[in-house]
Amino acid sequence: MNTLNNFDTEKKAAAGAARYNLLRTAQAILAKSGLDWKEQHRTCWCSRSLKRGDETVDVYRNEARDGASFAGLNRCGNLHTCPVCAAKVAELRRKQLSAGMVNHCDNGGWAYLLTFTFPHTSDEKLQDLLKRFDKARQRFQNSKAWKAFKKEAGVIGVVNSLEFTVSQENGWHPHVHMLAFTKSKKAFGEGQPVNNQGDLDSLRIQELKLLWVQVLFKCGLGEQAKLTDMMNHALNVRGGEKAAEYIAKFGRDEKWGASSELARSHAKTGAAGEKWGVLHFTPFQLLVWAGEGDAWAIHRFREFGEAVEGKRALVWSPKLKAALQVEDVDEETWIENDEPQPEQVLVGSLSSEQFAVLQSRKCVAQFLEYAATCANDQVDIDDFIDGVRQLDKIASGSLLAKREFSGGKLVIFT
Ligand SMILES: [Zn+2]
Repeated sequence: MNTLNNFDTEKKAAAGAARYNLLRTAQAILAKSGLDWKEQHRTCWCSRSLKRGDETVDVYRNEARDGASFAGLNRCGNLHTCPVCAAKVAELRRKQLSAGMVNHCDNGGWAYLLTFTFPHTSDEKLQDLLKRFDKARQRFQNSKAWKAFKKEAGVIGVVNSLEFTVSQENGWHPHVHMLAFTKSKKAFGEGQPVNNQGDLDSLRIQELKLLWVQVLFKCGLGEQAKLTDMMNHALNVRGGEKAAEYIAKFGRDEKWGASSELARSHAKTGAAGEKWGVLHFTPFQLLVWAGEGDAWAIHRFREFGEAVEGKRALVWSPKLKAALQVEDVDEETWIENDEPQPEQVLVGSLSSEQFAVLQSRKCVAQFLEYAATCANDQVDIDDFIDGVRQLDKIASGSLLAKREFSGGKLVIFT
């Protein structure tokens, strides 16, 4: 039964569709002029490349009218730079992590959430920071002390998630959330949390913190003068409830999902100081501001896209999925699979020409929201497209399509 009221349903539909606006902004930022389509960033053609020979795109909506989706498009699968693919894969990962956590706890196990970070300033380049951060993480994970710690604490495996936020004051803030699955509770020798954020402390945890800080020094991150600060903040350990909370929220987009609202509030407040405050933003939030023409956000997202190229966002330690009885799903297949879900109904189809009309007027998100909340059949779809066709072209309507006679893919509707 659908328990959402109309307002929530519409909000959910709008938030889902808005990802396509953010994707379009990301594509504009990542595209390099003068390059052939094959040489562009994978995200540049995400959801604009037609899968089928017949070159139509099917439109499905949820029965609850809280979302709609396309079938028949190739996806990029880049979870750092693509808001559409990231949302889809986050759903899978959330399911896997939740199932793993439940199975593990049912069998008497426990989990911890460790957050690894380091001091940084706004004038440091993300690419340089990441290089040193990667080195520090490798050094830490390969150290005898960490391996001994894992044995003593009964850690059966870990999942590492590389995440990013950015602020105007302090620049990029890469950090890693590590879920450590242990055989039992009290594995870190901890007592009750020491504050209301749920931070844990113990002799073992202090030793780990010192180990991480020493590794940071060796990799040129942080400095002796900041030692106390680093001991307090560079590594933090929280217990099972916080790990479960983290999993439940994993990849959810409440902070940026309602991006149309965020964009409206941006227009309202205007002032840079008010807008940024001291808050940290996720890369996808940057896309909201970038879409409004904010130069700082555009620059930062471009820097981000280049720095994270080829970086894996989530890594499970070997055999952990099997140990937690989690199904090992191939993520690429999952992203590409657009078979309708049981809760979805077919509204109709778009011809490639109609899809290009939506692209060139930047109306893909509005169309999906319409399909989710109002459209019933092919006539409704065609009416909407005819309306959009009256608008001026404001962007490229390029699509990629397979053409038999050319023996490969072609850019159509430029
Ligand atoms: Zn994508």
